[in-house]
Amino acid sequence: MSEPRDAWLCRVAAEIGTPAYVYFTDAISARIEALRSAFEGRFDLSYAAKSNPNPQLLAWLAQRVETIDVSSIGELRLAVSAGWQAGRASFTGPAKRDAELREAIEAGVGELVIELLREAKSASRIAAALGRTQDILVRVAPSRVPKGFGDQMAGRPSAFGLDVETIDDDLPVILALPHLRLIGFHIYSGTQCLKPEPICENYRGFLASFEDLCGRYDITPHRLIFGSGLGIPYHAGDVPLDLAAVAAGIAPDLDAFRAQPRFAGARLTLELGRYLVGEAGYFLTRVVSVKELRGSRIGICDGGMNNHLPASGHFGMVIHRNYPMHKVNTESVESALEKIDLVGPLCTSIDRLANGVMLPRLEEGDLVAIHSSGAYGLTASPIHFISHPHPSEVMIDDGVLVDATRSFGDPGPQASTSPPRLRLA
Ligand SMILES: *Cc1c(COP(=O)(O)O)cnc(C)c1O
Repeated sequence: MSEPRDAWLCRVAAEIGTPAYVYFTDAISARIEALRSAFEGRFDLSYAAKSNPNPQLLAWLAQRVETIDVSSIGELRLAVSAGWQAGRASFTGPAKRDAELREAIEAGVGELVIELLREAKSASRIAAALGRTQDILVRVAPSRVPKGFGDQMAGRPSAFGLDVETIDDDLPVILALPHLRLIGFHIYSGTQCLKPEPICENYRGFLASFEDLCGRYDITPHRLIFGSGLGIPYHAGDVPLDLAAVAAGIAPDLDAFRAQPRFAGARLTLELGRYLVGEAGYFLTRVVSVKELRGSRIGICDGGMNNHLPASGHFGMVIHRNYPMHKVNTESVESALEKIDLVGPLCTSIDRLANGVMLPRLEEGDLVAIHSSGAYGLTASPIHFISHPHPSEVMIDDGVLVDATRSFGDPGPQASTSPPRLRLA
């Protein structure tokens, strides 16, 4: 049986070519709607650009999400050229250099998210030179993260934010810096959690930290950012997150927090990437060759680790587990499943998309779609390794197929027919 998205995936393969990323905006809209209705206005939304900074996707999101979080000056430039005013951007990242700070402050970035004392001192000096006072949030690293997060940025020594253990050494210094105005705090301590209870417990920890810091330093915050931690299914057996349970679990705490006069006027923001765009994206690749040896079948695909590092298991996975995937446009008569390994086009044995995955029989020329690929797909992949042309990107938006392929310089997009140009000095 063919899947509902398959007609579009076939069109992309025919009209744009493979390998390609395909993003279905209706799925992103549904996620935005689900978040808004679950939390009933308690949170506004901030998109973490690093999960997918495709320019056309950024432009689409600019009309639908309140703010954006960028974690490099490059992401800020991408966001601004996609139509986000710099004032809607917060800027995180543990190694902001002076030139980045200067450009961001000059552009009018909404908030700098201060991760280290050194950065605050540099930012104040640079703002002074520009005759500005810059709004900042201080990123706080909690001392623990509940169990259940696939990745954690705190609870152990890390580069991210001021640690609660030592924040009292640094915060008074930051508050006294003349050209910075602290307007709130930011915590993003863990992500890829599929269980409501640890997510709620984590948020309760955030609220306790915000209360403690704002109380002790007599701060009335304008903005408090919650790194969402909301996860998506990536592997067989992953149960999708029960968002209603997260909302029901944390709503009483948020309401009690809000009832305190100090926090009545604070904007609470949920900052997230994968939960918004991850499941809306597919990586589409074509089987170039099939090889058989002693009963084992290997499908060699036109895109692999160079296009989709996370699916190949090399983006922090300890043991490779297959992403969900399907054979595109399967006729019901051939739906018996067979075991196959899928590899990419690279000359290295670590370029594997699937080990022993069960799919309807694949032949040369067939298409495979890898799911959960809208976040940390192309942006997290070593596209220059082995210099294959980079994959296309396509948005299916409101019934229209939009070519959203980025230009990365050499060696040009896959579909390009123009000969390579050499520029002689
Ligand atoms: C990466 C990142 C996020 C988004 O994480 P997801 O797991 O994609 O939701 C949010 N905030 C910050 C500061 C980040 O670095």
